[in-house]
Amino acid sequence: MFLIGSHVGMSGKDMFLGSVKEALSYGANTFMVYTGAPQNTRRKELEDLKIPEAKALMAEHGIDQFIVHAPYIINLGNAVNPSTYELAVSFLDKEISRSAGMGSQVLVLHPGSHVGEGAKTGIKKIVEGLNQILRADTPVYIALETMAGKGSEIGSRFEELAEIYEKTVHSEKLRVCIDTCHMHDAGYDVIHDFDGILTSFDKLLGISQIAAVHLNDSKNPQGAHKDRHANLGDGYIGFEALYNVAHHPALEAVPKILETPYIPSPENPEKKVAPYKEEIAKLS
Ligand code: FE
Ligand code: FE
Ligand code: ZN
Repeated sequence: MFLIGSHVGMSGKDMFLGSVKEALSYGANTFMVYTGAPQNTRRKELEDLKIPEAKALMAEHGIDQFIVHAPYIINLGNAVNPSTYELAVSFLDKEISRSAGMGSQVLVLHPGSHVGEGAKTGIKKIVEGLNQILRADTPVYIALETMAGKGSEIGSRFEELAEIYEKTVHSEKLRVCIDTCHMHDAGYDVIHDFDGILTSFDKLLGISQIAAVHLNDSKNPQGAHKDRHANLGDGYIGFEALYNVAHHPALEAVPKILETPYIPSPENPEKKVAPYKEEIAKLS
């Protein structure tokens, strides 16, 4: 089955139930949520998320996989400011329980930024953090996302992710989330050589490690290191290449998640609306 969805919100009275309703409104059969605002670490208690109601609605519609994304402000790679690093560790620890409590197996994480200390130091710090967090009985996988390489981001090269795997004690709890916009911005040729990308990924990490695909076009040319997502077909990658990633036989069982930008509403251009229903229909 083609697993396709988008990131959806989680707020208001309905919380997680609202997330599932939103996903269904797009015709999705999987989805991704942040457990609160992606730019802060304030979170509600599990019992306030309407989890049983959400699970019942998912079961009714045959949705059995979804993904949680950790907030992008946490940084395990910060070797300069101990409180930033400590916050990342303690937040992730709780985010793992929240993800498991909601019923997700996969928690996507931006590996981190070295904030000027160099990739070697950043990777060391990230590994230190993962070794503090991951145990043999950790109930979810942490999926390291491939990054665009803007600023001092770690993880724009598969080699860096492979190094994190090598040094993490419970690397069996790690997975990878590949992001098409990020790989293209990092310099990989998503347009003409996605098979080549998968081959080098397979050599370094193993294709079975891909637990999620973020499907986004890019507003910038290959190698730009910018990380600005575009709607499918409106960017430099183009619809055809993205369609081929979405339907690549090696990734059949992997959820594809759209993180494309909201677009002006056809009725009221002042208002922005989600493009996901149309993009999912185009891909299906
Ligand atoms: Fe991300
Ligand atoms: Fe992404
Ligand atoms: Zn991005």
